[in-house]
Amino acid sequence: MRPDVIVVGGGLMGCSVAYRLAKDGARVLVLERSVPGAEASSAAAGILGPSVESFEDALALQLGRRSRELHAELADELDELFGVDVGFRRCGVVELAFDEEEIAALDAQASTLRLHGVRCDRWSREELMEEEPAANSDALGALCIPEDAQVEPKKLLSAVALGAEHDGVTFQSGSTVRSVIVEGGRVRGVQLGDQVIEADRLVVAAGSWTTLIPGLPFDSETIFPVRGQMIATETRPPIFRRVVFGAGGYVVTRPDGRVLCGSTMERVGFQRGITFGGMADVIRKATRIAPGLRDAAIQEHWSSFRPGTPDGLPLVGETRIEGLFLASGHHRNGILLAPLTAELIAEAMAGKPGSRESEALSPKRFEEAQG
Ligand SMILES: Cc1cc2nc3c(=O)[nH]c(=O)nc-3n(C[C@H](O)[C@H](O)[C@H](O)COP(=O)(O)OP(=O)(O)OC[C@H]3O[C@@H](n4cnc5c(N)ncnc54)[C@H](O)[C@@H]3O)c2cc1C
Repeated sequence: MRPDVIVVGGGLMGCSVAYRLAKDGARVLVLERSVPGAEASSAAAGILGPSVESFEDALALQLGRRSRELHAELADELDELFGVDVGFRRCGVVELAFDEEEIAALDAQASTLRLHGVRCDRWSREELMEEEPAANSDALGALCIPEDAQVEPKKLLSAVALGAEHDGVTFQSGSTVRSVIVEGGRVRGVQLGDQVIEADRLVVAAGSWTTLIPGLPFDSETIFPVRGQMIATETRPPIFRRVVFGAGGYVVTRPDGRVLCGSTMERVGFQRGITFGGMADVIRKATRIAPGLRDAAIQEHWSSFRPGTPDGLPLVGETRIEGLFLASGHHRNGILLAPLTAELIAEAMAGKPGSRESEALSPKRFEEAQG
């Protein structure tokens, strides 16, 4: 049966959009070249930390906080419907400062956050050691944001895909979209090998590969890959209660003692893999945050590509081509922003007038004129 909407890409963005649109009654087909969750969405740490990642940009902070609250609702919904725990925990996030300059930066961040109504607590070294005894006692102080959270991206992706299938979404794995077909200024469908699949609406959610797909009205480098390398280990008892940032990195602790340490930010194109330099960098950051990790055994390491954009904001919404939507370019915050992105796409498809936020994320800001 002809789908109402084709979604290209089965990462968290594609799955979230598909799930959301299916709730509105759309017949959705997800085309994924590998398997759902094959790329960045399974590599992520799952930090839902807008107060750390986006505090300098009022709009990004507002979007991130809204999406974090949508995560809380989504986690409850997936638990109620399917009995799946996606690991959403409002554990709080802590940032460490190791010198006077970093202390001044934390003070400035705290003032900005409070102006936006975000509760945050400035801790002395003594308070930090009391709250998180495994933190480096060289830290001069810390900032704690209790409302920020974490989620387990792989569990979330499986549960959202389950929800989507339950609501009638069809997933077609092993299907690489070779090009987008546009006729007379509107979308007609996609080309897969020598097969054409038609639909009046298309959402491209292909992560770092989005603007490489021929037929889209964007320069191929509008969305570009930023490689991130990660290390996982385990400690008993769990090393921290909160997510801890410091020294340019972070340590995320799951309740079962699993610890994720990240990450690098590398512009190396689509070069996959783990490097000595990357591992050394992640280890240096993690052991600066928590010196006790020096004795921990490395259990796993991996890397993947964040979809970066020139202005640091994602491309979400309809393009100038009728029926063609983008949900991509979420860089370091794609797990955080997935539920909100799905809402914004659903609103745009329903023809709701764009809000200030949706205008700021519009893909039209990077669109090339069509010849
Ligand atoms: C190391 C690391 C840590 C991170 N930590 C966090 C974090 O703590 N919090 C946070 O919010 N975000 C984090 N992120 C960012 C987050 O992972 C991404 O922003 C998010 O996963 C992007 O999701 P996506 O669905 O757009 O892309 P992806 O998950 O990359 O999915 C894109 C999908 O499209 C498919 N595809 C590509 N081209 C085609 C084609 N032509 N045809 C069909 N299918 C195609 C791919 O196979 C892939 O499955 C992290 C990222 C990395 C790399």
